[in-house]
Amino acid sequence: MPPFLRLILAACSGFAGLAALLLILRAGTIPNQQGWLLASVTVLIAAALFGSVADVLQGRIADGSDGNAPAATAADREVHGEVVKILGLLKNQEEASSSFSMALDKAKDQLPDSLSPGQVRLIVSYLMTENDKMRERSSQLQSSLERSQQQIEKLKSNLAAAEAQGLSDPLTGLKNRRSFDITIAAEIVAARSVSKPLSLVMADIDHFKAINDRYGHQSGDDVLKWFAKILSNNMKGRDTVARYGGEEFAILLPQTSLENAVVIAGQIRTQLEGQLWKKPGAPNTMLRVTASFGVAQLADGEGTRGLFERADAKLYESKAAGRNRVAA
Ligand code: GH3
Ligand code: MG
Ligand code: MG
Repeated sequence: MPPFLRLILAACSGFAGLAALLLILRAGTIPNQQGWLLASVTVLIAAALFGSVADVLQGRIADGSDGNAPAATAADREVHGEVVKILGLLKNQEEASSSFSMALDKAKDQLPDSLSPGQVRLIVSYLMTENDKMRERSSQLQSSLERSQQQIEKLKSNLAAAEAQGLSDPLTGLKNRRSFDITIAAEIVAARSVSKPLSLVMADIDHFKAINDRYGHQSGDDVLKWFAKILSNNMKGRDTVARYGGEEFAILLPQTSLENAVVIAGQIRTQLEGQLWKKPGAPNTMLRVTASFGVAQLADGEGTRGLFERADAKLYESKAAGRNRVAA
């Protein structure tokens, strides 16, 4: 219900209560004590309604919404807005229900035994009206909370998708360099703490520029995807593979010695050499693709940079020695 309607209702309810009370007192049909009881119940009900309207208005000012404001653009602003909304709803509900139960308590404490059935009916009908309003507020709160919950779930999944996109390479679906840098930093710490070896393999497709030149950039992209799949198929357990640059890939092998890392790199090299890339839509166009590999094992006191530099130097050795080989 909009605040201005609640305000009007509150005013009506307050005036109606007071008018009814005046009539009762003038007629002299009930004792003063009961008159005051009726007065306090009606005034408390009106005060509870006024209070809730004031809170709604205050809440609007606090969260800066004016009903016509455009949807927040940044995810955190949206989440913040939802949380402020929920807190506002809960606060209103909590205060309205505590005022309401105070009114009930007071009515109960002051109810004398000698009320006539007509007076009891009057009080009961007031309380029932207020109870209906409370029930409606509760169900409004319930649906507002459900809407906020759905909104938050949607924002969470958007955020997760954006995060996943920011950490993976859109062409191959492998981790990107940023993601790999995070992984390698964590794996170096882990390797140190358990005193296990950690090896890094850098792989680079041979003469890739010539593939692009000969078959076109789109075919070059397809070769990258095909190569990425071969690499992924060779990963086990905590191994991580990433597209580190254009046609350069990085493989991190936790709990793997230099010798074993060389074996794995050799396996990949042989598999690659043993199959042909087929151009999509032109299966008769085939190509033998090779790659060169450089391998290094994390040394004592070494960091990410040192490990990369040594693996890269080995890759350069492979290239210089004629390509399609593994150097360690
Ligand atoms: P080498 O054997 O010494 O590694 O030679 P190379 O030709 O593979 O290496 P070079 O560094 O000369 O060329 C790499 C090429 O990779 C150049 C660049 O245009 C291409 N490239 C980089 N990223 C992409 C990509 O996303 N898609 C395609 N199709 N080509 C790319
Ligand atoms: Mg290359
Ligand atoms: Mg390269």
